[in-house]
Amino acid sequence: MNINSNYQQLKAQYLFKCISDRAEAYLASHPDQRLLRMGVGDVTRPLPHAIVEAMQQAAGELGNPDTFRGYGPEEGYEWLRQCIIDNEYTPHGITLDTDEVFIGEGAGSDLGNLSELFASDNRVAILDPTYPAYTDSNIMAGRAITFLPCVAENDFVPELPKQKADIIYLCFPNNPTGIVLTHEQLRRWVDYARQNRSIIIFDAAYESFIRQPGIPHSIYEIEGATEVAIEVRSFSKSAGFTAVRCGYTVVPKATGLQAMWLRRQCTKYNGTSYVAQRAAMATYTPEGRAGIRANLDFYLGTARLIKDRLHEMGYQAYGGENAPYIWCRAPYGWDSWTFFDHLLRECQTLCTPGAGFGPSGEGYVRFSAFSRREDCELALERIKQH
Ligand SMILES: *Cc1c(COP(=O)(O)O)cnc(C)c1O
Repeated sequence: MNINSNYQQLKAQYLFKCISDRAEAYLASHPDQRLLRMGVGDVTRPLPHAIVEAMQQAAGELGNPDTFRGYGPEEGYEWLRQCIIDNEYTPHGITLDTDEVFIGEGAGSDLGNLSELFASDNRVAILDPTYPAYTDSNIMAGRAITFLPCVAENDFVPELPKQKADIIYLCFPNNPTGIVLTHEQLRRWVDYARQNRSIIIFDAAYESFIRQPGIPHSIYEIEGATEVAIEVRSFSKSAGFTAVRCGYTVVPKATGLQAMWLRRQCTKYNGTSYVAQRAAMATYTPEGRAGIRANLDFYLGTARLIKDRLHEMGYQAYGGENAPYIWCRAPYGWDSWTFFDHLLRECQTLCTPGAGFGPSGEGYVRFSAFSRREDCELALERIKQH
């Protein structure tokens, strides 16, 4: 047996493990302290009651001989796929067929699994800084990666790759920078992909945080995008489903990849939990919608608080208006981990060091609005004093 030696190219420790190791070491030597967690990349507010009820009802159906169900369709139930199109795409003038929408257990797995559709000699372009899953899944597949720096000097908007890229990962609203793209900026990427016969994998996990009018909610708002883009979305951050697990991926037939992805899912995936799909369906009821909106508004209120206070203190802070993340430049020319350690030791505050998201993240940290409001207020007070 020979192992997949590409795994040896992966960075040894996952970012969040490094952070928790440092936090635990600090707590071990300061047992009386409590940490203020502003690094959280996970939702923290409970699910709206209407969604919990939908799951209870779905679980009840499975316990009743008249309503029991076994396997569902690998691509997800038709009622959910249609409901997603009606609510997420039709209002933006986008036409999709239900067989172009695939329900899955979340964006993380789909983003990793999509990489199977492409040959290993494709060149991949990935934003830098980036959510780590795109990089790691392509390293595992042995592909060459070009990083596209997103830094203050280019307003965190990536430039088109100089060397031809076959597979391009875009994520907007962006994790970690919190930046969004305008129609014009996104159109350049769609045009590039059409000219170069590339595919764009568009991660729209934070779509529901967009508040600014005129910002595209889907890449399919750009003309011609159905030929060159796969869009990955999730109920994780929009509806607080990180534990429930449900998301969806749009693979338009015009990409030429829809049949391949269907084949892949039918072979390797036996469908998303019925209970999770019923929960996803409940996010579109008036009660579900209102509950979700209240949670999102709360997070965005926290984001505003963090950004405003950082600005008042003279920090350079970005994002946070259409995303739950604030991307903050470290003071005094410090590197990310120096600022991280300073915040940990002097303010008992946890953030996420930007360098963990890629080389261009060096010199920044990410603050998260998924953090508890009182913890943020206390943390920002301490940051002011140090
Ligand atoms: C959280 C997140 C996801 C969603 O992951 P799930 O597997 O759906 O929970 C996808 N992309 C980015 C950039 C994220 O931050």
